[in-house]
Amino acid sequence: MIESKYYKKLNGTVQCLLCPQNCIIKEGKYGICMVRKNLDGKIVPENYGKVSALHFDPIEKKPLYHFFPGQTILSIGTFGCNLKCKFCQNYDISQSKVTDQLNRETYKPEDIIRIATEMKDNHGIAYTYNEPIIWFEFVMETAAKAHHEGLYNVMVSNGFVNQKPLFDLLHVIDAWNVDLKAFTEDFYRKYTSSTLLPVKESIKIIKKAGKHLEITNLVIPTLNDDDDKFREMVKWISDETGKDTVLHISRYFPTYRMKIPATPVSTLERFYDIASEYLNYVFLGNVATSTGKDTYCPECNNLIISRSGYSTRIKGLTKQGHCTNCNKKIMEYI
Ligand code: SF4
Repeated sequence: MIESKYYKKLNGTVQCLLCPQNCIIKEGKYGICMVRKNLDGKIVPENYGKVSALHFDPIEKKPLYHFFPGQTILSIGTFGCNLKCKFCQNYDISQSKVTDQLNRETYKPEDIIRIATEMKDNHGIAYTYNEPIIWFEFVMETAAKAHHEGLYNVMVSNGFVNQKPLFDLLHVIDAWNVDLKAFTEDFYRKYTSSTLLPVKESIKIIKKAGKHLEITNLVIPTLNDDDDKFREMVKWISDETGKDTVLHISRYFPTYRMKIPATPVSTLERFYDIASEYLNYVFLGNVATSTGKDTYCPECNNLIISRSGYSTRIKGLTKQGHCTNCNKKIMEYI
């Protein structure tokens, strides 16, 4: 049985210290994520090795647009989540209890590595689909072995993690896409059952550690589509992580417990213009529009990559990831 490194014993209970929910868990019960259990006074991740989905995806689907573009990446996920987003697009796995999944086959990290290395043209592993933080032990072991095989590791995360485990993850994770769901505590509290501040701290720590970072913001009409708040958010991203941080502005569609109609394309285009005042690389996701698809060099406006759906055409990038026209470093490539 795998035991968590991140908990402390209290009087007759235990407190999980993996994420800022800091759940106090009674004997035999689970934390908010529904996968980490107090078993005999220890915290055990019952989702260890339980895989909900396993696919080879274009890396653009994570989304990562400036990290080895055009490559394929083995993408795996498990069950549960430390947030309760009312608009979750993967609620069937994120809000599912691990107790319903215990009869599933248990993968070992070596199984994932074998699958990843047997596929020609696969270059890495992405921990995605549900929140990978709550799969901490399995991710750490798999990612360390992946590095050993020359594969890179990607986390697609809500960033709601305590700092000690985050620093551990930074040893093995090369690139992150972090959801910045809104820029108010009120939104985080009401619609995700979590808080904004730890997410902002994670973003700053990931950037400071020199890891590749892209940020996704899902725009939901009336809930987080205020122009001034959005401007404050993109200015913060630029100030704290630099103008070259990639921002994906994503279109919301009604799902799970959220019935508000889909984001108007005009809102996304307006936000694209606002974000482009502060950031060099802004993209629109989940929407068929010609705006916010391609990468241009911010120095000389050379077309670097054109995209259609998840297919990419490299136009103006050297093998070292520089602009072919003015030599500005744009991204990691080959
Ligand atoms: S990882 Fe799970 S059990 Fe631990 S604090 Fe977060 S929600 Fe609670």
